[in-house]
Parts: sequence; C-alpha cells; structure tokens
Amino acid sequence: MARATSPAGLAVPACRACGGELAPWREVAAGEPADPRRFSLLRCASCGSALTAGEPPDAAAYETGVYAPRPPRALPFVRALQRATVGQPIRMLRRAGMRRGSRVLDAGAGAGRLVEALASAGYAAEGIEPSARSAALAQAAGRAVRPERIEDHRDEGLDAVVLWHVLEHLEEPRAVLEQVLRWLRPGGLLLVGVPNIASAQARIGGAGWLHLDAPRHRVHLTPAGLEELLRQGGLEPVHTHHAVWEHNPAGMWMALLTCTGMAPGLPFHMLKRNARPRPRDLALLAAGVPLAPVAVALELAAAAARQGGTVAAVAARP
Ligand SMILES: [Zn+2]
Repeated sequence: MARATSPAGLAVPACRACGGELAPWREVAAGEPADPRRFSLLRCASCGSALTAGEPPDAAAYETGVYAPRPPRALPFVRALQRATVGQPIRMLRRAGMRRGSRVLDAGAGAGRLVEALASAGYAAEGIEPSARSAALAQAAGRAVRPERIEDHRDEGLDAVVLWHVLEHLEEPRAVLEQVLRWLRPGGLLLVGVPNIASAQARIGGAGWLHLDAPRHRVHLTPAGLEELLRQGGLEPVHTHHAVWEHNPAGMWMALLTCTGMAPGLPFHMLKRNARPRPRDLALLAAGVPLAPVAVALELAAAAARQGGTVAAVAARP
C-alpha cells in the first residue's frame, strides 16, 4: 500500500488513483440502512478521487443486506430494466473496435447476465466471480461463469476484459489493472464501469448518495482519477461514457428524493427487500414519483456536461 507521512508523523494512505496526497473530507453514513456506523472519506487534492478510511469489510458484507440471496421485489420490472440495459457495455466495446467472435472475460460477473448477452451477440464470453453463490446461480442459468477470484485467474491473449463495478470494491485497484494487462493481447480492450464521485448526482445526493456505499466501496473515483489509474496501470484510455442507463437515471432520482428528506436510497433498498420504510418515507416516495422524469432530464444534462452518475471507460493495451 502506498503511504506518505503527514506533518504530524502519522502514516496516511496515498490516492489509489493518482498517488496524490489525501486529506480528510467528509463523514458518510453506511450504505446498509441497518448499519448505524459512519465512515470518514479522505479526498485527493490532485484528482478529486476519495478513499473510505479504515479497514475493508469482511466477506459477510457481500452476502447480507443488499447483497443477500433473495429475489427482488417487482421482479418483472427489475428484469426488464436489466434486459434493456445489458447491451450498452457491449455497444461500448464494439464502438472501440471489438469484433464478433472476440474472446471476452467478465471479471466479477455476478449472475452472468452480461456473459449471456455477449454469448448471444456472437462473442466467446466467459466470466469469473468471487462469490461462489453468485457463480452457482449463473451456472444454474446456463451461463459460463466460474467461481474464481480475480487475483487467482490466469489468462492470456484476451481480446477484451470487463470490470463492471469492481474497481470501487478494491483496496488496490492498480494491482488488478496490472494483472488485467497481462491477460490482454496487445491492442486488447478493457471496459471499466465505476461510480463518479464528481457527478452531478453525487453533489445533489451529498452524504446520502447511493453509490457511496461505505464501507463496501473503498475508492470513489473521478473521471480524471480513473484515467490516471488506467494510465498508471499501463493502459491507454480510449473513451469515457457518461450516459450509462443501467444506473444513472435511477441514481439521480434517488439523489433528488434524498434532498426531500427521504431515507437515502430507499427505492433501491425496497426493491432489494432491505428496508423497513417509515410511513413518512413512503409518503415522500409517493410524492417523489413525479420527480422521475425530472431526474431523467437532469441526468441527460449531467451526461452532456460529462458529469454522469456512473461512468464507463474503455482503455486499450498498447
Ligand atoms: Zn488522486
């Protein structure tokens, strides 16, 4: 772990994205509604990226709460949203030159929906997933996902690798990028999706922004920080997309609802059966439904201003 020494002689971690100096920034609530703890974020003076202070959570944090194994509420709606948005990462890779038949690895594949979509679109796609439970679910659905941690995976000559909402969970994202570089062929592509701490919705949502998810999210990247991280990992940034449909309009809507005083991320946690809303929250939610189209318009404007709530970056191995 890269560390510097503060004027007081205390060891302080360096920015995970650019190596810059970190300073105390803000306190945020835990991402889990049932977790009463608060967490300190440190922010980089150079690239604006941030770090969750303290130790990372143990593996149970990825099996309970919002990650607990149970089907969501409104399942047909959730599946329809997933089906409508799963093609976007594929289009991003195609736009960057990925050809049909390419070998693609989704590292951190979850239940394997992207692997399945890639296979249907004519790519030789496989996934690895650290959660044995998620990998088993994927396999039961006939998707090519193996239970394996990124650190343990060996590969070479890949045409493309996907790290979709993976880097923010890592203590040392650069080490994983250096590993991905070894898996890729020269000219091979990496697609990364991460929350954008410099986004419009991050500012609107403040300490209640859904994608802070402390302490599971360890690094909170800005687009500038992500580009620097990719470069320092030996990759050449190609394009950063700010209009990401899977997450961004819903994230903006929840940021607006948080401003009305509603419990942070309540609609998301209700879908995940992970919240016991107070009557006041339900009233605020009902009153906030008309804000949904406002949120879509605001997020479109944010994306045009390159301040999307999550970003997707494509980079290439030189
Ligand atoms: Zn930085």
